[in-house]
Amino acid sequence: MKSYSNAIVLLALTLLLCACVGVMSEPSEGRLQVVATVSPITNIVYNVSGDLVELTGLVPAGADSHTFELAPSDAVTMSSADLIFINGLDLETSAMRMAEANLKEGAEIVLLGEMVIEPDQYVFDFSFPAEGGSPNPHLWTDPLYALAYAEIVREKLTARDPENADAYQANYDEFAARIAALDAAIQAATASIPEANRKLYTYHDSFAYFAPRYGYTVMGAFQPADFSEPSAQEVAALIEQLRESGVPAIFGSEVFPSTTVDQIGREAGVQFVSTLSDDDLPGDPGDPEHSYIAMMVENLKTMAASLGGDPTLMDGVDTGNVPGPDSSVRQ
Ligand SMILES: [Zn+2]
Repeated sequence: MKSYSNAIVLLALTLLLCACVGVMSEPSEGRLQVVATVSPITNIVYNVSGDLVELTGLVPAGADSHTFELAPSDAVTMSSADLIFINGLDLETSAMRMAEANLKEGAEIVLLGEMVIEPDQYVFDFSFPAEGGSPNPHLWTDPLYALAYAEIVREKLTARDPENADAYQANYDEFAARIAALDAAIQAATASIPEANRKLYTYHDSFAYFAPRYGYTVMGAFQPADFSEPSAQEVAALIEQLRESGVPAIFGSEVFPSTTVDQIGREAGVQFVSTLSDDDLPGDPGDPEHSYIAMMVENLKTMAASLGGDPTLMDGVDTGNVPGPDSSVRQ
């Protein structure tokens, strides 16, 4: 008897829900539900989608992309998503597990990084050693890989929402034009840096794909593979290595405050610059400069200024988001 009455209640509820959907058919009701993980990926998706989808970025601004903790509410967000964009290459393993466990029927997890490069293009290096098995995941610091992400986003959105295909294409085309301008400016700024100075010593090892594209050498990274601080022995070796290398500057990151790098810089007599970023976008969500392109422009200004080049060569790049400020993105 009890299960019979339960069935009646369920039926009534279902009818009620169906009626509601009919009444509440506002334009937003039909929008694709899209989730992305780290800020640069959320921003790349936004540049293609604009407000035509309902977009949520899971990793809050200023959080560390590698060690962020998901909230229980993120599982709910994922369970209603039609598309979940993840970098992959072991960057967001906990988000990946949560996405798989909560995936709605017919929804799709898109592993952008793993679609853009083949295993023989993976870079293993200082913080991402081959014996660990996880390649360096920071493909997006190479703007042409960022554009390849955008192309996949455009294809996936278009397949699920063909009515807006033209808008996605137009946004993508404008984003591609801005990436081309960014790429040209990076080449010019790099050319202004004396060749012997085109060396990157970073705390966080995130320019592995950027460096070969533009002719920099990644000399080393201070952050150990487990994201702890380097040991005293490692610090001593790094100071020695730095003194021999003749680099004018070493770079930290705001997301990874490290007193150790400061100390290494002082003891090696090298300028320590703390402001490189691979995932923290400038400004706050909704600000005009809260964009992937603005982050890369800031990075290049920092590199050029501290390695003996001309940072003003980055000034002409349009750093705004193609669809305007990202105030509508939940992040
Ligand atoms: Zn990173």
